[in-house]
Amino acid sequence: MSSTNNQNSIIDPSKGDAARRTFLLASAMFLVGCGTKKITSTLPSPIWNGQEPSTLDPPSAVVMLPDPSSMLGAISRGSWAKGPAIPRNMNRMLPARYITLHHDGMTAFTSTSKLSAASRLETIRKSHLRRDGGRWGDIGYHFAIDPAGRLWQGRPLTWQGAHVRAKNEANIGVVVLGNYEQQSVNRAQLRAVTSTLRSLMEKYEVPVSKVRTHQEWAATACPGKSLQQAMVGIRGRSLI
Ligand SMILES: [Zn+2]
Repeated sequence: MSSTNNQNSIIDPSKGDAARRTFLLASAMFLVGCGTKKITSTLPSPIWNGQEPSTLDPPSAVVMLPDPSSMLGAISRGSWAKGPAIPRNMNRMLPARYITLHHDGMTAFTSTSKLSAASRLETIRKSHLRRDGGRWGDIGYHFAIDPAGRLWQGRPLTWQGAHVRAKNEANIGVVVLGNYEQQSVNRAQLRAVTSTLRSLMEKYEVPVSKVRTHQEWAATACPGKSLQQAMVGIRGRSLI
């Protein structure tokens, strides 16, 4: 558990116990979706890392990153999210060192409709805002890729994500919409995953060894068999 709370010490040590309790409670609740081996049609649940959102470092203490979403051609968060991000519930992003790939782990999703993808993102955002007693500031992932291969902006990259327990610091989260235990990755998605990862790796100088899937961090089925297999192929062929 020490790694869970490793950031509390630089934020507010007095919050450690509360954060630990919250994390234990949250862990018990996170038995569905992208954080577990259980295959389910319920909502995804990347895991809050136990930080106390109300005790952020002052902005002057961290390095601000430009938000490259527009550079990557991502569809803006504003075009799908029906509410603003909540800065007091998020930490500033640190310079990226890792990129992590997920699936959303809900039902299989093959629609290429833009509207369907927007609606699914909003469903995920709302479920994330309810997590941990309502202390999340936004959807947990920074980017999303839909079945048509479109790239969507999630949580702006100026903010730390919430997608891998205790490993969110400096970690860019990319989710592929759908359940890749139950469905296959299509060509458009493969191309989008490859180009998105490549762009982020170049922009932030992240080596291929630090481009991981969720199950390479923790015991989880995420991102599903099909996407995991695809990712192994992409890393071996296209990202080196
Ligand atoms: Zn995941």
